[in-house]
Amino acid sequence: MKPANNTMAGLGTTVFEVMSRLAMEYGSINLGQGFPDQDGPEDVRRIAADALLEGPNQYPPMTGLPELRQAIQAHARRFYSLDYDWRSEIVVTSGATEALADCFFGLLNPGDEVILLEPLYDSYPPIVERSGAVPRYVSLQPPEWSLPLAELEAAFGPKTKMILLNNPMNPASKVFRREELETIARLCIEHDVICLCDEVYEHLLFDGLQHIPIAGLPGMRERTLRIASAGKIFSLTGWKVGWIEGPAELMGVIAKTHQFITFTTPPNLQKAVAYGLAKDDSYFEGLAGGMQAKRDRLVAGLEKVGFDVLPSEGTYFVSADFRPLGFNGTDVEFCRHITVEAGVTAVPVSVFFRSAKVEDLARFCFSKQDAILDDASKKLSDHFGA
Ligand code: PMP
Ligand code: GLN
Repeated sequence: MKPANNTMAGLGTTVFEVMSRLAMEYGSINLGQGFPDQDGPEDVRRIAADALLEGPNQYPPMTGLPELRQAIQAHARRFYSLDYDWRSEIVVTSGATEALADCFFGLLNPGDEVILLEPLYDSYPPIVERSGAVPRYVSLQPPEWSLPLAELEAAFGPKTKMILLNNPMNPASKVFRREELETIARLCIEHDVICLCDEVYEHLLFDGLQHIPIAGLPGMRERTLRIASAGKIFSLTGWKVGWIEGPAELMGVIAKTHQFITFTTPPNLQKAVAYGLAKDDSYFEGLAGGMQAKRDRLVAGLEKVGFDVLPSEGTYFVSADFRPLGFNGTDVEFCRHITVEAGVTAVPVSVFFRSAKVEDLARFCFSKQDAILDDASKKLSDHFGA
């Protein structure tokens, strides 16, 4: 048999699946893969359920139900004063994962360079490589995860086509500040580079931090693509409804790419997301506030165990240095160890790096019921004798 595609055949199984399977095998509390253990708003689910029975159930328009694209346009206006034409500047996708693939496949040519900031979400590198493009990695280092300016500047060159910015950033739980965004924007403009922004955690910022889409900075709208995920906004990660907002000049080819990857996304779910996006501000504030309380709860528990816990400014996650507990192996070994021996699963942070070696952090997901978080802290505490 002739060989499969080299990039895809060379991949392992994603860490989220690996750790979730391990958690199931050992019956441990799964704080690895990022998903809430309580489904999002019942009224949103009810609209989807009704739409499943009453329709629409057939192919919706290729770029999304008009009512959803209009709701997306209104959402971007309401929260960020960004204006996108729902007819030509918004494409609904089957999750942010598809949105990312549409942008990479639609815009990259073989030999183009793409700057990827690590730690990074694991779907980026293989799809960039499958597009024939070359990733250029720039590492942010714990515990501050600050943007390394000299390295970033050095990564931009004549072949740079795109930079990917994940803000808030998984798994660093970092929220980029305006000055950092201004630096990235300046480099994008100077080098005529597209900024692909993965903003799936846009409504999960803590401690009063405000989400700033880089698309709103001067000179950036025409070169920025903003990716969002209803899974994260409505705590319904299995729904896989996402979208892309961007200038018509870029969205045309992205729509053409989407048409041959998934073509459309379930219309009943789209209808419910359209309804959800119009919820009043208290819903969005409650989402972030509730998650912040969960962060505080887990951080307090982990600190009591003896971890050196890093700041978490947003997302579902917090990373913690386990060296103070006296564990000398790698983070992969640590996460396996606590799954098997303590009954709690986390994700090793090294898997989010391609160029740098960071092997002493475990990422914990706190989008779980309080009792589960308390139980996890207790199990770790009992195991490490804290
Ligand atoms: N980007 C980041 C940074 C993520 O953490 C995730 C996982 N939820 C995704 C994209 C994928 O989102 P979706 O489930 O909408 O495909
Ligand atoms: N985004 C989630 C995380 O970082 C997982 C998504 C997935 O399992 N593919 O944990």
